Amino acid sequence: MPKSTSTKTGQARTPASVKHEAGSAKGGKVLRKLSRKIDAPLEIPHPRNKPGKMVYFFGKSLTEGAADQKVLLGGKGANLADMTSIGLPVPPGFTITTDTCANYYRNGQRLPHGLMNEVHKNIALIEKDTGKKFGDNGNPLLVSVRSGAAVSMPGMMDTILNLGLTDLSVAGLASSTSNPRFAYDSYRRLIQMFGDVVMGVNHDLFEEAFNKIKNKYGAKLDTDVPTQGMIELCEAYKTVYQRAKGEVFPQNPFKQLELAIEAVFRSWNGDRAVSYRRIQGIQGLNGTAVNVQTMVYGNMGEDSGTGVAFTRNPATGDNIFYGEYLVNAQGEDVVAGIRTPLPVDQMPKWNKKVYQQLIEIKHKLEKHYKDMQDIEFTIERGVLHMLQTRNGKRNGPAAVKIACDMVRERLIDEKTALVRIPAGDLTQLLFPGFDPAKKKTADILTRGIPASPGAAVGKPAFTAEEAVERAQNGEKVILVREFTSPEDVEGMHKAAGILTSTGGRTSHAAVVACGWGKCCVVGAGEMHIDLAKGTMTIKGRKFGRQDVISIDGGTGEVMAGSVGTIEPKMSGDFGQVMKWSDKYRTIGVRTNADTPADALRARDFGAEGIGLCRTEHMFFEGERIRAMREMILAETLEARVKALGKLLPYQREDFIGIFKAMKGLPVTIRLIDPPLHEFVPHEDEQQAELAKIMGIPASKVKARVKQLHEANPMLGHRGCRLCVTYPEILDMQVRAIVEATIDCLRSNIKVFPEIMIPLVGTKKELVALRAQCEAVIAKVKEAEDYKPRLDIKIGTMIEVPRAAVTADEIAEAADFFSFGTNDLTQMTFGFSRDDIGTFLGDYLAQELLPADPFQTLDTGGVGRLVELGITQGRQTKPDLKIGICGEHGGDPKSVEFCHKVGMDYVSCSPFRIPIARLAAAQAAIKAEK
Ligand code: PEP
Ligand code: MG
Repeated sequence: MPKSTSTKTGQARTPASVKHEAGSAKGGKVLRKLSRKIDAPLEIPHPRNKPGKMVYFFGKSLTEGAADQKVLLGGKGANLADMTSIGLPVPPGFTITTDTCANYYRNGQRLPHGLMNEVHKNIALIEKDTGKKFGDNGNPLLVSVRSGAAVSMPGMMDTILNLGLTDLSVAGLASSTSNPRFAYDSYRRLIQMFGDVVMGVNHDLFEEAFNKIKNKYGAKLDTDVPTQGMIELCEAYKTVYQRAKGEVFPQNPFKQLELAIEAVFRSWNGDRAVSYRRIQGIQGLNGTAVNVQTMVYGNMGEDSGTGVAFTRNPATGDNIFYGEYLVNAQGEDVVAGIRTPLPVDQMPKWNKKVYQQLIEIKHKLEKHYKDMQDIEFTIERGVLHMLQTRNGKRNGPAAVKIACDMVRERLIDEKTALVRIPAGDLTQLLFPGFDPAKKKTADILTRGIPASPGAAVGKPAFTAEEAVERAQNGEKVILVREFTSPEDVEGMHKAAGILTSTGGRTSHAAVVACGWGKCCVVGAGEMHIDLAKGTMTIKGRKFGRQDVISIDGGTGEVMAGSVGTIEPKMSGDFGQVMKWSDKYRTIGVRTNADTPADALRARDFGAEGIGLCRTEHMFFEGERIRAMREMILAETLEARVKALGKLLPYQREDFIGIFKAMKGLPVTIRLIDPPLHEFVPHEDEQQAELAKIMGIPASKVKARVKQLHEANPMLGHRGCRLCVTYPEILDMQVRAIVEATIDCLRSNIKVFPEIMIPLVGTKKELVALRAQCEAVIAKVKEAEDYKPRLDIKIGTMIEVPRAAVTADEIAEAADFFSFGTNDLTQMTFGFSRDDIGTFLGDYLAQELLPADPFQTLDTGGVGRLVELGITQGRQTKPDLKIGICGEHGGDPKSVEFCHKVGMDYVSCSPFRIPIARLAAAQAAIKAEK
């Protein structure tokens, strides 16, 4: 079997046998789901929890629960109690605790002793509050029975509505509402729901019975069935029930209730709920609570209705009441999208009083919860009832605006505002994004690994040259490649977005694109490229050079056609959040930047220095790659030095540009790192072209390329090992740094260069290379006749496990450490950075890993090495400056870890700087608590 030779600069040669699985759609999906992972609440004994108490009432006469009892009462139960306490119109009811659910399971799936007694007492309390009677044949009380765990699990557990209807009470409901059709419709819904959900009667049997009645009455829709038909349907449903269960539909409302409560408890361990908890990583919960609540109806006529709303706009953050309602409808009708709801601002035309009441409730809820709320309500015959409230989900721009507005409104303080904004969501403020409305109807072809956020729309270009040419002619192109290589850089730069079928988050395409803020999706394994024909095929659908595609670098989605985008708004609030972040954070934020343009952009985003300048990235373009190749192909020292001489001015100019851009901020320059063979051409045609330029036979080029080949280049001749073999490369690079430094200092530009030696594993390596650097510094000073002291620090990356465990020794020769957690992760796990896409999806799906370790630092393993490295390094040098420059430096969770372990700074790509600034502040604020 061919070996996958993963690469440093991303020139991946993945064997055909695995490439189509790489970064499968499955992996992408799981990744997205896991990114929404929820932290399970802690089971801390709560002062209000009364031992042994199984039922908590909420109503006019008494409210026993409170908002902070979510673990015991579930999110829904706690908030229903809380809304009742603050005087909102909540239909009365009670919550059976999650502990009772746990007891039900402990008890061999039997309701705990005494529970039904408490239920009886609480039903009596509801009867007192409502003036209705459970099972009454005059004005019956009907209830809903709903699940509700501490963490919301939408639609994953069971609900039974209209409970309490019997042959007797349905007649009572018909007369008390003067609406027999409604009464019998409610009854048939109960029989069906109870039969299906509680008793496991086959749903299709009910459908068959309904179709018969519809045929009899010539009704197309359910709503066309007349009252008589509904009465007959109830009879038919009862027959279905009796045939299936061998007993009549229960005519005792308390029996119905008991069975329904049990069914909700059972649904906690139903397939849906179990899978959902697994996927979302929800652990440590007791079970579900059960909410039994008085039914209210939005479908009782033109004076009734139902709706859902947010107290502020969740897409923009605007402080306006935002939502939809439907007249004469039930909650399901709004959610199911069968009828088109009306925007709430049209409600005054229908019922001004209710609208005003809702606006008052909006203010009351926000004042109470100090956050934007998502509510559900029903209007029964002109009377408003609140059915739910919870903190509303919102996008990045809205999160920023709401947080800032609430500080201005004195609802929350600055620290609360900062902690509330998901740091990763700030990216949505930095890149144009797809219009969420347009995205809903987009034709999604596949999902790859989201590598660099943003939205790109364009036509596929299959080579870098093609991308450059077409882009220069004004076309918007997406560079579609199996993988990218150094030669592609120009094309990557010119393309609107980058899409590859192999590679992971830290592949070359991803790292470079992220640095530029360019939208990039990698590892779209379902995509097959036919370079010769100029087509890409996804699940049998072919796209050529003239077909438009859209890619979402934030989600990894690849879509057919042009999906509409919206420009981000860099509002004043964004700046405010950054200011507050800087006020509270205690660690520095630097950037990974390789060009003056990136450095400038990073400064604009607030970078306090460069934490990693990858010098090899400077060799990719035009003339430089040619000189670089000459250097690599050189057979003698003399020839190599000559080629390096061509590279020197480029490097020097770049460093001068970067130093100028950083205006006296520290700049960490890393010496060459990738294996040399990544710079040489591998195809015959390109090799022949290079041979021609160099005036040597093509066979020589071929032979040297072959000679440079390594089975495991990532573990091969790279990093400091290159300079051990070819000291002249170090000489050239350090000379360029020192000459640029002296040049700037002579022009009164402050510079603080830091030379960083990569891939060090032993103290001896560092000692030797440090000595060589110092010798070059001295030599250049002399040649330049520069007398003042030069402040050039020399440090190393800690990216090989051996370096982390011998950090005390290595620190003796280092002025600073920078953790290269990309390689440290690769080498600690033994996972190839470039090939992890082939199996990561399976690992995440089977929960063998909590997250992509190249994205979020594995604190339990790699993190331990980092901690050890820091402790040991500072044992030797207490003031040792320590940072991180792996991709984790821009990941909020990893930034929190870096804060905790006492790093001085994190370094990340320019577009992630705002995220890192906010995440660092959040880490500091959380640590205070
Ligand atoms: C690293 O290994 O974390 C690092 C920053 O270096 P590179 O990604 O260039 O190998
Ligand atoms: Mg590295």
